[in-house]
Formats: sequence, structure tokens, C-alpha cells
Amino acid sequence: MQRYSLFSLARNAFTGHRNWQAAWRSPPLRDAYDVIIIGAGGHGLATAYYLAKNHGLTNVAVLERGWLGGGNIARNTVTIRSNYLRDESIPFFVKSVKLYEGLTRDLNYNIMFSQRSMIDVVQTYPKLRDLNRRMLAMDIHGSTYERISVDEVRHRIPPLTGGGPDSRLPIICGMVHPTAAVARHDAIAWGLARGADDYGVEIHQHTEVKSLLRGPDGAITGVDTNRGVINAPKVAVVVSGHTTTLTETVGLRLPLQTYNLTAFVSDPVKPIIDVVVNCPDIGVYFSQSDKGELVIGGATDPQQSFRRGIKENVFEDAVSAMLELFPSFKRMKMLRQWGGSLDFAHDATPIVSGTDIPGLYVSAGWWGGFKAVPAGGMTLAHLIANNQPHPLIEPFSLDRFKRLEFVLESGTTATR
Ligand SMILES: Cc1cc2nc3c(=O)[nH]c(=O)nc-3n(C[C@H](O)[C@H](O)[C@H](O)COP(=O)(O)OP(=O)(O)OC[C@H]3O[C@@H](n4cnc5c(N)ncnc54)[C@H](O)[C@@H]3O)c2cc1C
Repeated sequence: MQRYSLFSLARNAFTGHRNWQAAWRSPPLRDAYDVIIIGAGGHGLATAYYLAKNHGLTNVAVLERGWLGGGNIARNTVTIRSNYLRDESIPFFVKSVKLYEGLTRDLNYNIMFSQRSMIDVVQTYPKLRDLNRRMLAMDIHGSTYERISVDEVRHRIPPLTGGGPDSRLPIICGMVHPTAAVARHDAIAWGLARGADDYGVEIHQHTEVKSLLRGPDGAITGVDTNRGVINAPKVAVVVSGHTTTLTETVGLRLPLQTYNLTAFVSDPVKPIIDVVVNCPDIGVYFSQSDKGELVIGGATDPQQSFRRGIKENVFEDAVSAMLELFPSFKRMKMLRQWGGSLDFAHDATPIVSGTDIPGLYVSAGWWGGFKAVPAGGMTLAHLIANNQPHPLIEPFSLDRFKRLEFVLESGTTATR
């Protein structure tokens, strides 16, 4: 792989940047692999990368129905954090943040990781109790919340002029999550694709899996695609939002529901906010991108759907919530809006698991799955390579639903 460095940048400048190697190949599709990963999003690409890097498994194909990195990895609001509640969840997300911290160097690809902290603007006592509880739980596992005064909140977030003592919901305090970060979503997909490709993994775009295939013994034998049948004894479904449409082709029903989540960005403005702002009581959060746009997110649709658009009422709810605390933003213009479809287990914890069908693995239920890309990929790769779950994902197995051992994160970091 051609390494990216100041030296290579300078050398390529002399030739008008015409001699850079392609970041990944487009090899011919073969009819058999050791492992097939369905979905070239963050999790699918990370799984392929760690399968090759950590386990030496390189006869691997990643099949993507659209273009690489065109799914939710391209549609999210890029917040990375580990402020969960349960002992089973927090270590996983702490590990993911740690992996993110080293990912630029690991991939030799600038993912524009910016560890700028997140401030929760607290406006109700039930939310404060929830965050206090999380603070104590997180503390055990090396993640942090720090309480700050209203004055300090306003100092760190200058445009926050609403939420005064006479308002509907006066601000009570702030809770700072110092390790929270943002990173460039495309760079993560492209960097992981480049890294996996360098180990020999094949990435096949515009290759849609229509159904999973089982042999007479019930084990997975491969997949049927728009380009024909491809065989593999191990298949991982990593298709965020569309998991059930594939697993149901082999009769596997999963406890997942798909919802639309939306985001939008403003016109670029001068630097005004250098932290991630989260307003959990009124349901809006945002950060400022390097280009200057405010990247804004709100709550999900109340009903299940596979839509990728945005509903006017969801948009209005988020904007009116934001203006309550940031009235000066009413002069901003909104530039773009979009949505994605996410699948969601009812305990709001992901599923990274083998299944009752030998050779079939799923990585799903990624509600806030951008932050989980490195750890999700690393642990799924471990599971596929060893047929044993990595300790970090043992609680995320499908069996938890049979044993009623839910990892209840509903209502903590998720809006559901
Ligand atoms: C608006 C919005 C805001 C969000 N904000 C955040 C956030 O701030 N922080 C956070 O942590 N998370 C956030 N998320 C969630 C996060 O984006 C997802 O949880 C995560 O990206 C899912 O993993 P992925 O990257 O692998 O998914 P994807 O990128 O969606 O990858 C799945 C891929 O599978 C492909 N695929 C589907 N079906 C098939 C098939 N049959 N055959 C072949 N390929 C197929 C798709 O085309 C897609 O490319 C947000 C999501 C949305 C929509």
C-alpha cells in the first residue's frame, strides 16, 4: 500500500497528483470465499479489516449493494462517546473510543478525530438523576461525566442564551463527557476499506445479496446476489437497518425493529461551538463541522419504517427545541437534510452474535453505531475467526433474549 505522508504528498505534487494509487481495487468477483461480509458500511469494513489484521483471514469478500460507505456511515452525526449505563455496555464503548484514538495512525489515514468533549445541558431533575447514576456506573469502567455549573455551561457554549430562570425549562447544570469526539465519517469508511484491501480483502460494490443460502444440514453455504451465487461457510450480515429482510430469507426472525432517524446541517458559519452539545430534555444535539456547518440531530420517527427521508414534523420538533435554548440560531439557514434507517433491539443494546444457523453471524441493533465501528468490527472479527465471542460482546449475544437477560439501555442514550 502506498503510504500517505508529507513526503508522498510533496512527491505527488510534482506530478500533478496523477500518480496516486487507487485506495482499493475492484477485482473480479469469485464464486467462493472463506468469509462473506454483507454490507460495506462502517461495521462491515471494520470487521473485514480486523479479520485480516488480527486473525490473518484474507480470503474475504465484502458485498455492498450500493457504493462503499453510502449507508448510515455517511448519514450520521458522527458523535463518538461512551456514556452508557450498564456494566455490560460501558466497557465495549470505552474500548471503541480507545480504538478511535489510534485509528488515524493505525490506518495511515486521517479520520479527522477531534476529541472535543460533549456537554449535556440538563433541564430536568429526572434527567439529572439519570446522568448522576450513569456518572457513577461509568466511573467504575474508566468513562467520565463531570458536573459543571450553569455559568460554566454558558461560558463553554457561548450561543446558549436561552434556558434562563424564567424559561419553561431553566438550565440546572451541565454534565461534561470529556472523551466524547467527532470524526470524519467518509474517512473512516475509506480508511478501513483501504486497510482491508491492502491485506487482500475484496470489496465488491453494486453487489446486492438477495437471500442467504443453507445446505441440507442447515448450515450456511453462501449467498444469492444480483451477480449470481457466491459460496462461503461463514457469512456475516452487517447491513444496519435491513438485517431482518436478509435473515428472514433463511427463516431467522430477530427481535429488531427499523426506524428512521434524521439529521440536517446549517449553512457554514464562523466557529461558534467547539464541543458537542446535547440537550437530552428537549431532544436535540449538534456539533460544528470543520466546514462551519452545524450538524444537528433530533429524535427518531415514532413509527417503524425503512424511509431515508425526513418528515417535516420531526424536523420542526428538533428546530423548535434548538431555538428554545439558542434563539440567535433563528437567523440561520438550513442547507441539507437526510435520514437513515436503523434497526433497534428493544433493550437498545446491539446484537453481535452467532445464530442457531451454523456459519451465520449478525451485527445489528446499532442505534448509535458510528461510535462503535472499531470495537464492533474488532469483536465480530474475533467471533467469526474463533467461533467464540470476544469477552466484550458476550452480553450482546442473541441468547440474551431467550434467557431474558436484557441489557437495558432504553431511555438512557437512545430516545426509544
Ligand atoms: C441521522 C443519523 C444520525 C446518527 N448519528 C449517530 C451519531 O452521532 N453517533 C453514532 O454513534 N451513531 C449515529 N448514527 C447511527 C450510525 O450511523 C449507525 O448505527 C451505523 O452507521 C451503522 O453501522 P454501519 O456503518 O455498518 O451501517 P451502514 O453504513 O448503513 O452499512 C450497511 C451497509 O449494508 C448495505 N446493504 C444493505 N442491504 C444489503 C444487501 N442486501 N446486500 C448488500 N449490501 C447491503 C447498505 O447499502 C450499507 O452500505 C446515526 C444514524 C443516523 C441515520
